[in-house]
Order: sequence, then structure tokens, then C-alpha cells
Amino acid sequence: MDNTNYEEVLRRRQERRRREKLRRKRKVMMIYMLMFSVALIAGGSAFALWKYRLNHENNQEKILSSSESSAFDESQDAVAAVNPTPETSPDGSDLPGSSDSLDNADSSDSPEGQESQQGQEDQEGQLQSAVDSSNPSDAPGALQKPANIFQRFFAWIGSFFNGKKSPDNTELANSSPESEESGTQESSETPEEDVPEETQQEVQVPDMNTPEGRLANLLFVTDRLALGYDYDQAIALLKTNEEFSTNPEVVQALERYETEKASLVEYDLKKVTHVFFHSLVIDNARAFDGDNDAKGYNQVMTTQNEFLKILEEMYNRGFVLVRLHDMAHEEMDENGNVRMVKGKIMLPEGKQAFVMSQDDVCYYPYMNDDGFAKRIIIGENGKPTCVMELEDKTEVVGSYDLVPLLEDFIQLHPDFSYKGARAVIAFTGYEGILGYRTAASYQDKNPNYEADRQQAALVAQCLRDNGWELASHSWGHRYLGQIDFEKFVADSDKWEAEVESIIGPTDIILFPFGDDIGDWHGYASDNDRFNYLYSLGFRYFCNVDSAQYWVQFGDTYMRQGRRNLDGFRMWQDIVAGQEGRTEDRKLDDLFRAEDVFDPARPTPVEWE
Ligand SMILES: [Zn+2]
Repeated sequence: MDNTNYEEVLRRRQERRRREKLRRKRKVMMIYMLMFSVALIAGGSAFALWKYRLNHENNQEKILSSSESSAFDESQDAVAAVNPTPETSPDGSDLPGSSDSLDNADSSDSPEGQESQQGQEDQEGQLQSAVDSSNPSDAPGALQKPANIFQRFFAWIGSFFNGKKSPDNTELANSSPESEESGTQESSETPEEDVPEETQQEVQVPDMNTPEGRLANLLFVTDRLALGYDYDQAIALLKTNEEFSTNPEVVQALERYETEKASLVEYDLKKVTHVFFHSLVIDNARAFDGDNDAKGYNQVMTTQNEFLKILEEMYNRGFVLVRLHDMAHEEMDENGNVRMVKGKIMLPEGKQAFVMSQDDVCYYPYMNDDGFAKRIIIGENGKPTCVMELEDKTEVVGSYDLVPLLEDFIQLHPDFSYKGARAVIAFTGYEGILGYRTAASYQDKNPNYEADRQQAALVAQCLRDNGWELASHSWGHRYLGQIDFEKFVADSDKWEAEVESIIGPTDIILFPFGDDIGDWHGYASDNDRFNYLYSLGFRYFCNVDSAQYWVQFGDTYMRQGRRNLDGFRMWQDIVAGQEGRTEDRKLDDLFRAEDVFDPARPTPVEWE
């Protein structure tokens, strides 16, 4: 998977380089043709000599690889943000009621909202194929021997001309893109459709012991940065590289980055939309099996199939993922006061910035056996990935939730992420985080309590290192705008003690149920809840709002509304699209719900 992704990026650069080199290559081909004529004249003797050599090489059987709030429009539906209506409540929500969690929390602060959530056709087959496809290393097809005797002959003649090794002896599998120059066969001009195979053999990291390898690596890194709109860093890396700063390819890349950078336009921060998900349903059959949780899953969860279609469609429409911290950040003014300052997001004309988040990334015990991932771990490549339990209780590692699926997608499409941005991942505390039972109530119940806390901390750091933003979702999944202030304080303190102590300083809070601590006006200076959360370090506050955009910049904070992309929301759009209906469709700026909605879902998807 990763290899393929790595190669996808490499391939793009190669294509560009190929075009640049095409003219030169044609000349070389002309000369080969000339040589061929000469060779024909020299004919017999040369052929005999070649055959002689070939016989001696047969034993070695070398494999030749084929080369290669203010902002907030004040007229918006403020009520939705404060007091979710049926329309917005599914949004935020987590269905209350499932009692599993109560066992693990003392009665005084038992979580109010237990997310209960939830098809039919997807089964292990899907899962198994996902497992299989994640291991491409043994995929055949990348390597091939030129069978055509004349091809080999040409190659051999060509190698004489170039003064280089015979292709039979050229180990191109390890080659940087450079090697295609020394490749002497037409097959090096691999057609588009061969790419998947081609990728298999170029997975190898460039050989850093050779100048070619170091140059290839440098340009790979800077191209990747440029694809992610980080032209400044790409340019700086090239300019400060002592070995290659005057290399023609580097100079050319520099020019290109400068040109592309100059064409960027500042994106209007008021038009940054924010979409969110819960844990993704991986195995539809187990999630939508008709048990007590199935209905909730159908309402507030999104399936893997849907998520991937959403990504694809949003990518095709020019959406680019940004961080909340790209939208605003703190700065000290001339008086020494720390203020929230708007960020500056520079994107190509026509692109649309958006923020993504995922709530309740805790893998609650009640979700066991329902077709979800079980926990997040650090994969062999240092990226976050998931463990999932199959029906027979065996555990498999792979892209079984939003985090690794989004990682995979961005590997393949670096231009989907602004300067390495990832989504916001939010945690409650009452069952621990990331699938580790780290809540204080587990101290005696979980024999691996300390080890799990340490592991969760490492995973959290891995997420941060890979561009993910982490957030609070309250400790007990409470209505933070409505519960008594004392309970509000107690819940906030417990989150700090049990979650922030593991994941480190956190400045984002995503309100459970979308229940904000103020109405759509900016937070007042006498808002006790705001002041308390501010004192704990929170600066970014997100409610739930079905409007396309809801962004508010205060002096000391930023707020944003979030849109749920789940079964209920999509079904509402589908119903609204039926003949004779007059309701607004709310997702059409992102995708058509009909194109995404998983046929495995039971319908209708209703909220009661
Ligand atoms: Zn939630």
C-alpha cells in the first residue's frame, strides 16, 4: 500500500522528467538506429560474438526490470448551534442510553451520552481482501525479462555505444528515476496503465551512497512538499543543499516552485467548511445485524465504502484538508497580550479548504463484535494504523478506520493535504482513548493499565507527529452547555487528569451533541464556562451546524460549526431529492448523497 503510494508520487515526477528528456532520448534513439545499420553490416561477426556472450550469461539469469463570526454569518441558524434541533442533533450526536459505559464509571459522573451507533453485504471477504491488498510485496509482474531476441540484441549494441553495461547486467530495480536514462529500451517509456506494476520495483529507497540517489531523494522530498503547497520549505531545501543547489534539475525545480507559488491565492477563511465522522463501519454485516446498537450505527456512523467515496469526490472537486491551526493561531501583540490571529491559507485558484474531524476515537467496549476497529497502533512504517478483530477473534492490522484510510489517501494524493494537515481526533475519557482502557476506573480492572497508558501516549504522539490535531470531547460525553456548572468543572477536570495527562497539552474542544457553551454571539467576557475552558488551555471551540460555513473569530478564540456526514444526514438528502419534496439538500457542495450512500444500510434511516 505505502509502496504503491510512494511510487505514485515518484511516478508523477518521473513523467515530468520524461517529458523534459524526451527530445534528448529521441536523439539517442536515432543514433541507435544508425548503430543498428552499422551493426547489420558488421552483422555476422557481431551476432556471433553476442551469442557467445549470451551463452555465458545464461547461468546467471539476471533479471532485467523494465525500467522502472464575526465570521459567522450572523443570520445563520443560531439555535442549531446551541440547542440542536432534531435536524442537527443527529449531527452531533451520540445516542444516549447504552448502559455498557455505566459499569465503568462511578454513578456520580456517569457519562450521559453513550455513543451507540451501527448493512449487510460487506463481510470478511472485504476485510480479507483489504488484508491481502495491503501486502503488495509479492505482487508479480514488475520484473520481466526481455524475451525478444532482437530487443536484447539492440540493447547490447546500444550498450556498446553508451559505453555502459549490458542491460542484462543492469540492475534497474534499485534505480532512481535517473536510471531510465541509462535504460536503453523502449520499454522504459512505460505507458500509464503499467504503473501499478512499475511501482512494485521502484519502491526501494534511493541509494543515498550515490549522487544520483541523493539527488533523486532530494527532489522526491521537495516535490512532495510542493504538492502539499509547502513551496517555501521546498524552495528552502533546494537552495540550502550544498551538493546540488546548482544542479540543472534542481534549478529547474526551483523555477517551477517559484512560478507555482506565485500563482497561489489567499483562501477566504469564512469559507472553510468542517465535516466530521464517528468510527467508520468496516464490516457492514456485523454493524447492521439488527441488534440493539444497529440502529444507532445506521444513524450516526459512516461506512468505510462511503468514507472512501466521499474522499474521492471531495478530492475531485478540489477540496484541500487544512488544520484548525492553519485558520488561526495565537500571537502576542505590542502590549504583551496574547491574541488569536487569523491564519493565511494560500491555495491554487479554485481549491476549497476544509477541516475534518472524528469524534469518540475511543473504540468503546460496546462496539466490540460490531465490525469496527479495536484500537489504533503505530504501524511498521511509523504511521498510525488499526487493529481489528475478525469474527473468529483473530486480530488483523490494517486501514480499518478513518485515520489510516486518510493517511493512505493522502499518500496517494499529497495535494489533498495542506502542508501535511490531517484531521482532528477527539476523545472522551470515561472508557479511555484510542482503544486503550486508560480511564482511572480501569486502574484495577485492566491488568495492563500502566502499559496501556504508555502505549496510548506513544500513539497520540505519533498522531501529532503525522499532522493530526487532538481534541477534547469532554470526559463523560456531556452536554457542556446545559449541565450544572459544578458538573461542568468536574468533567473538565477529569478530562484533564485522565486524557490530557496522556496526550499532552490540547487546545481544541469538540462539543458532544454539538452543545455549545454560548449562543451564536461571540463568547462574552463573563461566560464562566468559556473562561474555565480557556483557563485549561482551550482556544478552538467546535459545535455542530448543518450550514455550509460557520466560522467565528474572537479576540482569544476561534469557533467553527461542523457538519455530520453520516447515515442519517445522507438519507435526509436522499429523501429531500425525491420528487415533490421541498427540503433543502445540505451536502451537494461536497458530494451527491445518492452516489455515496452505502446500499448495505437498512432504510429508511430515521431519527426518533
Ligand atoms: Zn460524540
